[in-house]
Amino acid sequence: GQCASVCPTGALAPASEIDAVWKAIHDPNTVVVAQIAPAVRVAIGEQFGLEYGLNTTGQVVAAMKRMGFNIVYDTSFTADLTVVEEAGEFMARKTNGERLPLFTSCCPGWVKFAEQYFPQLLGNLSSCRSPQQMMGSMVKHTLPAQLGRERKDVVMVSIMPCTAKKFEAKRPEFKTGGSPDVDFVLTTQELARMIEESGLSLNKLNPASFDMPMGFKTGAGVIFGNSGGVTEAVLRYAVGKITGQNPVDPEFEEIRGEESLRVIRTEVGGLELKLAIVHGLGKAREVMHQILDGSLIVDLVEVMACPGGCIGGAGQPVGRDIAERRRARTEWLYNTDRLLDLHCSQENHFVNECYQKYLGEPGSRESHRLLHTHYHHRRRTGSEELALAKAKESGDG
Ligand code: SF4
Repeated sequence: GQCASVCPTGALAPASEIDAVWKAIHDPNTVVVAQIAPAVRVAIGEQFGLEYGLNTTGQVVAAMKRMGFNIVYDTSFTADLTVVEEAGEFMARKTNGERLPLFTSCCPGWVKFAEQYFPQLLGNLSSCRSPQQMMGSMVKHTLPAQLGRERKDVVMVSIMPCTAKKFEAKRPEFKTGGSPDVDFVLTTQELARMIEESGLSLNKLNPASFDMPMGFKTGAGVIFGNSGGVTEAVLRYAVGKITGQNPVDPEFEEIRGEESLRVIRTEVGGLELKLAIVHGLGKAREVMHQILDGSLIVDLVEVMACPGGCIGGAGQPVGRDIAERRRARTEWLYNTDRLLDLHCSQENHFVNECYQKYLGEPGSRESHRLLHTHYHHRRRTGSEELALAKAKESGDG
């Protein structure tokens, strides 16, 4: 990294990955690559007193460039890639009637919960890595050769709405080339701290654009940050693939909403689909029991641990008016989709180029190596056992 003039070394609190990120930025031998999740940029402005939900993407990218990040990519790019892989997996399972429902796997809070409490259903989890991890493996796989550098010279930093993403990046499965695919994860609040301590005013910066190709996305990759967004993105893809024509109106209003469980029946090119969207782990536990006892039969279940999805992540700015903040962030993610020219992941020509250059077909052997994973039955800690016992006592188990 090449530190720009604004780095405030020494002015930072210890014991945070922020220090390690500054160190990488100051190291002239490293290329520091960042990715930003869509939920982050409709929330970070709150920390700077801006209007709730305002999309500050351009200013955030500008701030990061000023701080010395060499390349800034968009996690929405690999959200588009996730849609292509996961929708392919879903349609194959639906056609073969195999291991349904398929559960989404992009929320590490949910994945860990499933590993701890529902090991009998792990075979139903999509094997797709999350967009964060797909970005890590694609960057580390492609960028060193493009830049004439070694893998160890490329440092990948994620800006994410939650701390569960820190845990995810440290999973041993996500060391595709022998070292972590994502080196450091900072939350929205931690990035805001870095920006503040750099003396930058977010609202005064001229916006800057993401770097290409992995800064390019369709609206499908943006709405991922909202509860229901993954399902809607998969449907947009499925309509295009099954009917041969992308949806004329890409907005699936019936999928959107605030209820913690939404069950939707729909039909795509003669194929009947039943979809469930869940947010919050208490509700997820109920839904899992309903699936196990046969009282809920669906094809796809989207689970997000946080209220409202990633826009409600625990690493986002907080306040007593959190419900109002969440609503504004959700609305702005949908508005961002409306402002983009493309809305279906299959229209992302840089994603398609990734297949041509590196991956072959969706679901290929190379896709599996770089973009998929597997899950383990995970032991619960003492406090988690206690929480489970309490939940059972109160009838939530
Ligand atoms: Fe993280 Fe919450 Fe999003 Fe899950 S839903 S990935 S825990 S912010």
